Amino acid sequence: MEATVNSKPAETDLYDITFIGAGPVALYGMYYAGLRLMRFKAIDMLDEVGGGLMALYPEKYIYDVAGFPKVLAKDLTRQMEEQANQYPGTLCLGEKVLSLRRTDDGLIELTTNKGRHLSKTVVICAGLGAYIPKKLDIPNVEELEGAGVYYSARRISDFADKNILIVGGGDSAFDYSMMLEPVARKITHIHRNDFFSAHEDSVRKVRQSSVELLVPFWEVKRIEGDDWVREVTIVQTRTGEERTLPIDAIIFNIGFLTNLGPIEQWGLELEKNAIKVDSRMRTNIEGVYAAGDIVTYDGKLKLISTGCGEVAVAVNNAKNYINPRAKVSPGHSTDKHELAQQKWARKAAREKRAADDAETNPTASPPEPRTEKGMGQ
Ligand SMILES: Cc1cc2nc3c(=O)[nH]c(=O)nc-3n(C[C@H](O)[C@H](O)[C@H](O)COP(=O)(O)OP(=O)(O)OC[C@H]3O[C@@H](n4cnc5c(N)ncnc54)[C@H](O)[C@@H]3O)c2cc1C
Repeated sequence: MEATVNSKPAETDLYDITFIGAGPVALYGMYYAGLRLMRFKAIDMLDEVGGGLMALYPEKYIYDVAGFPKVLAKDLTRQMEEQANQYPGTLCLGEKVLSLRRTDDGLIELTTNKGRHLSKTVVICAGLGAYIPKKLDIPNVEELEGAGVYYSARRISDFADKNILIVGGGDSAFDYSMMLEPVARKITHIHRNDFFSAHEDSVRKVRQSSVELLVPFWEVKRIEGDDWVREVTIVQTRTGEERTLPIDAIIFNIGFLTNLGPIEQWGLELEKNAIKVDSRMRTNIEGVYAAGDIVTYDGKLKLISTGCGEVAVAVNNAKNYINPRAKVSPGHSTDKHELAQQKWARKAAREKRAADDAETNPTASPPEPRTEKGMGQ
């Protein structure tokens, strides 16, 4: 399926820049590509944009995005999509990129489960690849997945009036506790260590709430249930104390296994399941950039805000790579945004005129090729 971010028809010809992934980082990159008058496309294997925000935590509040004291992940996605949609681009959803190769004429060829894409540059914004939650090796966990055993809380309403057990000491676990506390009947939150990787402030908020926080050294021992989770036995591993709790929903948040999948085979320089980039977000393959959770460099932070900064660097450098006369610095959007929109509108009008002429006079010269030349950015 090839959808369009705007009303532009689907196209399979040469693009200036193609994003692998349509998570928050790629969405922001799409805006920047539009601002720089680059023909852009994004390809994501999921059926909707938003990456981890929509797949894992659409109804969680995010508190650390500049300009938003708090924003639901799904609302941030909507805003980022709207920002990207200000310029015409192509969005291919439900399509997984399987291979990437630089052709002899210096273009980047991507093959997917649905076809082939050609681009002058590519920005890999593929996050952690596939999100595979770590699982506990105890009976009934796999059998009761989807029947009370969860690895994320996508819809708050699924947890209304439920007795919930949350397992984990990281940010996600504590965020779920805070998110579900107002709707749950009761939340018990356990953690097996005597330290947390979650923000101190989140731990403090949960401690001050009605959530029963059992730490340290509490683990799940047994899960009972036939068609649905019924009760869970937890154990304090140092003292041996056991408690059996009536539970309707367990949310395990004990981390994710990362799997880059096909990306590992593309000849990219990798370090610990991440793509190495330089300060311009260039990978070791010419014309191929990367940004967001998938990259590594000294000091890397896996956050939406840092990923957005990285993709801005990647796109502006890709612009200069395609057209060395174009500055890397985009200037300020306060000055350039409307100008870019006017240029896109004029370009669309020119193309429409050329297409109309070709229809009425098929022997006339073909429409102007879509190139970066002369864009003056
Ligand atoms: C529970 C939880 C809470 C979080 N809370 C916060 C927070 O409060 N603040 C914050 O800043 N960060 C938070 N994060 C981290 C944040 O979600 C990530 O930093 C962010 O999603 C990274 O964006 P991305 O676009 O790089 O990757 P992703 O969001 O992972 O998107 C990558 C996209 O690439 C696609 N893809 C991957 N491989 C391919 C392929 N081969 N072909 C096609 N498509 C592909 C995937 O389908 C996915 O849609 C949280 C994460 C989790 C799990």
